[in-house]
Formats: sequence, C-alpha cells, structure tokens
Amino acid sequence: MEIITAVRGFKDILPGETERWQFVEETARKIFSDFGFKEIRVPVLEKTELFRRSIGETTDIVEKEMYTFEDRGGESLTLRPEATASVMRAFLEHSLHGGDSVSKLFTFGPMFRRERPQKGRYRQFHQINVELLGSADPLVDAEVIHMLMLFLERVHLKNVNLEINSLGCPGCRPAFRKVLGQFLSQKEKDLCEDCRRRLGTNPLRVFDCKVEGCRAAVSSAPLLIDYICAGCAGHFREVQEGLKVLETGFSLNPRMVRGLDYYTKTTFEVTTKALGAQNAVAGGGRYDRLVKDLGGPEVPGIGFAAGVERLISLLPEGMEGVSRSPDLYVAALGPEAKKIAFRLCNGIRRQGFLAETDYSGRSLKSQMKRSDRLGAGYTLLIGENEIREGKALLRNMKDGSQGSIGLEDAEAQLLSLLKAR
Ligand code: AMP
Repeated sequence: MEIITAVRGFKDILPGETERWQFVEETARKIFSDFGFKEIRVPVLEKTELFRRSIGETTDIVEKEMYTFEDRGGESLTLRPEATASVMRAFLEHSLHGGDSVSKLFTFGPMFRRERPQKGRYRQFHQINVELLGSADPLVDAEVIHMLMLFLERVHLKNVNLEINSLGCPGCRPAFRKVLGQFLSQKEKDLCEDCRRRLGTNPLRVFDCKVEGCRAAVSSAPLLIDYICAGCAGHFREVQEGLKVLETGFSLNPRMVRGLDYYTKTTFEVTTKALGAQNAVAGGGRYDRLVKDLGGPEVPGIGFAAGVERLISLLPEGMEGVSRSPDLYVAALGPEAKKIAFRLCNGIRRQGFLAETDYSGRSLKSQMKRSDRLGAGYTLLIGENEIREGKALLRNMKDGSQGSIGLEDAEAQLLSLLKAR
C-alpha cells in the first residue's frame, strides 16, 4: 500500500530542525519581552470577511491565495494568511484597548497562502508577528523597527538590508493613486493582464508585480513619496531621525508598496541576498486605520511579520542546537531487570534528569551500543546475575571507569551522582 504524504507546500519540521526553531522562538520571546511585549495566541481559522475587510479585496492574497471553504454550517471560513487581522479582531473582541493606552503584542504560528511552492515559499509557513497598538508617535515606529533588527542580529543574521518607505495616509494617497493611474494607463499595452485590471482597482499594486513589462513601466512612474502630505512627510522624517539615534542603518525605497492594503505611513522590509528569489525575511508597517475599518475605535498601530522558515534557513552552521542526551541509560535483560529499569528510569526523570531504557529485550551488548550512540553519561547494566547479587554495574561513559551499586538504593545513589555532575 502506498503511504500517504503531506499536502504539497506543507512541510514537516523534524527533530534536529526543531532545536533551531526553539532557538529562534526563545530569542524572540526574550527580546520582545525586554521591550514590553506580551504573547497573544489566536486561532488559525477566521471568518473570511475578516481578511476581505482588512487585507483588501484587490490584493493578491485575497484574490488568489486564501484557503477559503464553506464549513458544514454554510459559513465561509478561511485559514489565516497572516496574523495582524486576527490579532486586531481579538483586540476588539476582548476590548484590549480598555486598559493601558498602549498594547504591545506578539504571536507565533502558521499562516496559509496558496502560492506556487518553491524554495523559501510554502503554502503553510510560520511567522513571528509583532503588533503595537495605541500610539501614532514616529519614535514608536523607529523602536519597533529597531527591535526587529536587534532580533535578526541575535539570531545571527548577517548582510541584511532594511528598506523603509512611507505610503501616506487616506488624506494624500487617493490623489497619488489618480496620478499613477493616469501615468500607467499610457503604458497599458506593456502591462500584464493582472496589472491592466489593477489599473481600475488598485494601481499601487503594479509596483509589486514581478513581470518584466510591468517593472519597466513603473521604473519611470511618479513616486508616492513625492506626493505625501506635510503631516506624513514630517512623520517619516522623524522615523528616520529615530532610527539614526538608535544606530539602525536603513535605506529608502520609494517603490516599496507591500502586499496588503491596510498600511499607512511607514512601511519597511528586510531582505537578504543570501536567500535568492524569495529574499524577504521580514516586513511590516503602520496601519492607523485598520482597527477603525474593522469596526473599532480609532486606534493607530504598527507591526511586522518575520518568516521563520527563511530565518531558520539562514542560521549559521553549528546552530543546530544541542539535542539532549540521556544522563543515564539503563540496559536491562530479563523480565525482572526490565521492571527495575522501568521504576528506576521514571524515578530519575521525576527529578529532572533524562533517563532512557530499552524494553525490546535486545542483548546487553546491543543495549550498550545504543547507550553509546545516544551519548549517555552513565550506563547501568542489570542482568540476571546482577539481580541475584543485588548489585548492578555502573559505567561512566566519558572515562570508561566502572563500579557497582546496590540495587536496593540504586535511585538515591544515581541521583546523588547525577546531581554532582
Ligand atoms: P508578508 O506578510 O507577506 O509581509 O510576509 C512577511 C514575511 O513572511 C516575509 O518577509 C517572508 O519572510 C514570510 N513569508 C511570506 N510568505 C511566505 C511563504 N509563502 N513561504 C514562506 N515564507 C513566507
């Protein structure tokens, strides 16, 4: 019979890799908590409407990439393609804006987008998400970006580029949209089919298109940064000043628009040449209207998402993490010895040490080999002779020395040895 394999674009994360994941997550947890962020966990499934309203009807994600289905009750549900919308929903549903004026939240978890799988691009991938709600201050933007860069540095990411841009606000962006629309309609014949359609709906998206003709068309297009209002320009200047104070290097990319409609003012993206085509490690921006658009009060916010698979693939060699070896291996032969090993191992584990044994009935020699392979600190040998004599042989696997210990109080003796290690 053929085995059943995972769904295309969905990936298992195996022991050996999971240590790297733990390292990345623990580093994030530590740094984010130093900056006052708290963890929130939200469901992976939401009402489809949530993503339509927040990400935007005319984005690639909503138009083509969502895993949407009708559940048995006839409701349209979607596996989340990103986390910000869900965090905002939770923020509103539980009135998290009621207490402290600023909410600092982070979350980890899988996202789902039906893109074409390739190296660094999956249909289920994981993000580390940060959201800060309740402040429109440009210094907050600088602080959040600085925290992201610090996190990337602590997970040993080298040669990364931070690019920033301002996407303006609902006051200034519509005027630019018109200017851009007019400019691009003159180049309509050079645009791909998708972008021709975007001309009427969301011309800014053309900046994101990878098709050669579209790239050429926008290379001489007017730039949003030249059209933003004085308020947005001043805000953006202060973000840059803040980044300079925190010695966080950046470059300006006036063509960066990001793939989601909810962004206002500051947007940013971190890329690295080491990744090839899928070169974005993290991205984010300010979303001052999102909470209101979802039916809440006017609460400004800013956040980012970092792609965990891409971060993991960039960790330097030797960062595999040390997978834990047994402190004690009990090699037992015969039913009586097996019972002793069973009791002993579980007692040792309850005291916080890793103890292993073998219930397969293999020869003592092959159990010794296994103990060696697992890198155990000590091996305790219990065969029929040992039971008869009430003593077991204990070998220190590091220096090869051995002695015998009484089976009567074996657990206490072993624990004092292990504690002294
Ligand atoms: P986005 O929400 O599109 O801004 O993505 C934020 C980050 O998530 C990107 O910078 C990538 O690191 C990661 N990412 C996005 N889409 C995928 C994908 N399909 N597979 C793997 N990582 C992804």
